[in-house]
Amino acid sequence: MSSIDTEMRKPSLDMAVKQRIAVKQIISPRHGESWTHTRQGDPRGFIETTALKELWIHTGSACNLSCPFCLEGSHPGDTRIPLLTLDEVKPFIHEAVELGVQQLSFTGGEPFVNRDFVNILDFASQHLPCFVLTNGTQALLGRAKQLAPLSNNPHPISFRISLDYPDQSKHDEGRGEGSFAESLRGIKLLREQGFKVSIARQMTPGENEQAVNESFYSIFQENGISERLAFTVFPDFGLPGTDDGSPEVTENCMLKYPTAQSRDDFMCSHTRMLVKRGDQIRVFACTLVDDDPDYDLGASLAESLKPRIMLRHHRCFACYSFGASCSAP
Ligand code: SF4
Repeated sequence: MSSIDTEMRKPSLDMAVKQRIAVKQIISPRHGESWTHTRQGDPRGFIETTALKELWIHTGSACNLSCPFCLEGSHPGDTRIPLLTLDEVKPFIHEAVELGVQQLSFTGGEPFVNRDFVNILDFASQHLPCFVLTNGTQALLGRAKQLAPLSNNPHPISFRISLDYPDQSKHDEGRGEGSFAESLRGIKLLREQGFKVSIARQMTPGENEQAVNESFYSIFQENGISERLAFTVFPDFGLPGTDDGSPEVTENCMLKYPTAQSRDDFMCSHTRMLVKRGDQIRVFACTLVDDDPDYDLGASLAESLKPRIMLRHHRCFACYSFGASCSAP
């Protein structure tokens, strides 16, 4: 995985700006390659779905921030993935309950940019526990009053807020001036409203994980957050429609290295994600591959559970090597 320091982000920003001007539909470069075999002709690694435990719901790719490293390529007004409405998502929530799904999870873009999102979250948490990825800044803070009553809903709602580094200026370089302080306000607000909060942070090559976490805890203490919040650490996934040159995952690799247990930890073995395409809601294999139509597994959750999922996307290697997962810690 490549470094995510500021200097290395500059070329990515140029590339992202060009992509945003040129295209709405962004396709992974590996989409044109064989679904079943690697470039060397070896059978690809694959995952078969065991049971659907978690349904991810993509609320739309619009965001209030424009981070150059965003794995969704999101920015204000982005329409690559249109905003989802409550009416569109209701049938899938009912199907998820019927199939025994244990959690509904939400991602974007920034979910709180979607004006229907609090209504969607209200409906969802009447049926199942919910988990929301958010940057914790203005879009969330602006809906604080609407959000507060949802802490009394039948099922709990937990949030994961993105704080890239335990360094305000380094975080703000990527996410915009003042965003670190806003996210800290978002964390405090959610805790005061009674919601559980965890943190998504960036992985730096060679880092001392415990030391990085302790630096965050010091900042939290200084800002009146006394809890030792849980972290999820992410590698750099690259922009949508790009290829980071990761090795291909063969069937032999999958049989030799991951155990049966660790194969079950791949998100595509137990999750799906709803993605709006035009005016249709489609079911994709996981949260990481909405830029390759071959990972579109159908129009219903039941239909999406049948196909074998081939590990062709370059982000599959992150799952293979880091055990990358968007799910709650
Ligand atoms: S990116 Fe990961 S979770 Fe998604 S299809 Fe590839 S291996 Fe599965």
